[in-house]
Amino acid sequence: MMENDGCIFCKIVRKEIPAQIVYEDDDLIAFNDINPAAPVHFLIIPRMHIASLMECEKTHQAILGKMLLLAPELAKEQGCIEGFRTIINTGRVGGQEVFHLHIHIIGSKERLPAMM
Ligand code: 5GP
Ligand code: ZN
Repeated sequence: MMENDGCIFCKIVRKEIPAQIVYEDDDLIAFNDINPAAPVHFLIIPRMHIASLMECEKTHQAILGKMLLLAPELAKEQGCIEGFRTIINTGRVGGQEVFHLHIHIIGSKERLPAMM
């Protein structure tokens, strides 16, 4: 399925609702989470509607790889120099609330104190 009318993230892809977009290309969009859990909290999503990791197939291999490789690039740009968390919630039981595949990138802009 390319798009899903009722899907909030498809609406962000189509620019029907606003989002603080931090990156976009032909395949992916990344935008700040509306309810951030940390100073840096953005989501990377494919433009195409894929409901969750459960719905992914072999044909999605390239897009999944692209999403994962974009994570450290954007995290560094956003100030997560030393590291960050990546979370993919899958299915209701897995804590997923929005059924359009997304990777959470969560982190802080602070550096750890230097080791003595
Ligand atoms: P999930 O639990 O599905 O992994 O996470 C969905 C995330 O999407 C949540 O962290 C939530 O704050 C975020 N979110 C839900 N609706 C919107 C929205 O309309 N705009 C943005 N920017 N984030 C949203
Ligand atoms: Zn969607």
